[in-house]
Amino acid sequence: MTPTELKPAKKVHVLEAFIKAKCPRCRRGDIYSTPTYSFGGQKMHERCSHCGLHYEREPGYWYVAMFVSYAFNVAEMVTFAVGLHILTGSNSPWVYVGVLLGVIFILSPFNYRYSRVALLYWLTPGLNYEPWRAEDKFKVAPPEEKQD
Ligand SMILES: [Zn+2]
Repeated sequence: MTPTELKPAKKVHVLEAFIKAKCPRCRRGDIYSTPTYSFGGQKMHERCSHCGLHYEREPGYWYVAMFVSYAFNVAEMVTFAVGLHILTGSNSPWVYVGVLLGVIFILSPFNYRYSRVALLYWLTPGLNYEPWRAEDKFKVAPPEEKQD
């Protein structure tokens, strides 16, 4: 390695980047500016602070995240309903309705956040991890941001 070569950026595993809600293209910039559970709601960055990726790919892009969120909700409700049946053996529908509504309410910030992250990571054609963008020399300064 010559002194002029820069050390390549550390590759980040997809699950680590997904859990931390990092940019799907460079896995360095944050998608959200607030934590999952905060009283101020969840605020997204418009662009990646590192590579400049515009997160909302096209107008109405986030509507698709509703379907992802719906799938998350169904999976969580089935899981908790089966778990509740195994633990309590109850046949009362009100036990299930009460517990499942509580679970969905508590998990709604999680579903909101990760439905959008999952949409960006796995359900958007043409949006892939490009490790070279993670290197410091390819950082895009905010005024020079451009849509890809
Ligand atoms: Zn990025």
